Amino acid sequence: MSSQASPVKVFIRIRPTANFAHELIECPPDQQTLKVRSRKDSNKGKRNNQLSSWVFQLNGVLDNVSQEDTYDRVARSVVLGAFAGYNGTIMCFGQTGAGKTYTMTGAAETYKHRGIIPRALQEVIQIYDKEVFQETMVDLLSSIKQGKSSNSGVLTVIEEPGGGVSVKGLSLHLVHNEEEALNLLFEGEMNRIIGEHALNKHSSRSHCIFTVHIESRSRTLSDAKYITSKLNLVDLAGSERLSKTGSEGQAQMEAMYINKSLTFLEQVILALADSRREHVPFRQSKLTHALKDSLGGNCNTVLVANIYGEAAQIEETLSTLRFATRMKCV
Ligand code: ADP
Ligand code: MG
Repeated sequence: MSSQASPVKVFIRIRPTANFAHELIECPPDQQTLKVRSRKDSNKGKRNNQLSSWVFQLNGVLDNVSQEDTYDRVARSVVLGAFAGYNGTIMCFGQTGAGKTYTMTGAAETYKHRGIIPRALQEVIQIYDKEVFQETMVDLLSSIKQGKSSNSGVLTVIEEPGGGVSVKGLSLHLVHNEEEALNLLFEGEMNRIIGEHALNKHSSRSHCIFTVHIESRSRTLSDAKYITSKLNLVDLAGSERLSKTGSEGQAQMEAMYINKSLTFLEQVILALADSRREHVPFRQSKLTHALKDSLGGNCNTVLVANIYGEAAQIEETLSTLRFATRMKCV
């Protein structure tokens, strides 16, 4: 694996909707491009009389793709890479309602609609059962549970000798099977929802990181070394812009922090791709700091940009696609 190549693989996933704007969004059969038309030039905020059109190049476009196939195309290689010792990060980005949580966690209760995290846990446990000594840890981060937003929380990121990072004050749970791991996931999701009600917040206003720590050693080679790695599964906060949320006071401050932390995430990924850059500004936000040892270099990083293909959302869709292609073209 080389650190020269673009450090991020970028996929677009389209939320199916009855009012899909086929006249504005076109998915060519190559499944790697997306054509979008809009009357408004969102950079200047002015309305043009003519339609402008853009073509976006991605690593893959998931249009009408099942949860199972999404896992296979987006996540599987990252999970398998973790067993070879490569840290991995899978993130979902996009406006509220575009399908980030559906992609990451899935629709609760329906097994068929489970998302990337439950499928990754299942795969991790299966590999353990087959190939390696069992010792897996799931670390559940729920910043809302602490009653603070991710930028002002009491949790601190600690740099470890050897370049790793860890989060101080976070609970760490040892699990022995898929059921125990899934229970932690759902407990975390519940805490996220309860915490948000208590604080009168919206779930879209927080980043949520689910980290799986993997420690493994081959069963067949008696002198095999332990391999340790981390898999970060990230449901990012809604990316919609400030003006649209129309929030005031505390909520506006929060929206500002979220926009900032997404900008910092972008800056980190751009810096990682630039071989001339020596300094990567990981420490600008807790999000990037916590992911420091799992982005760039020898890590597998995947971004799924979720879009909501209705005409009324076209400006947010364009802004999500611009973010996605900046991440890919680095
Ligand atoms: P976000 O987390 O980005 O705010 P959600 O994941 O909560 O958005 O999705 C909003 C709604 O759309 C949910 O009811 C979800 O079940 C549904 N949804 C999103 N993506 C899909 C999809 N690919 N297939 C079916 N339903 C979806
Ligand atoms: Mg969500």
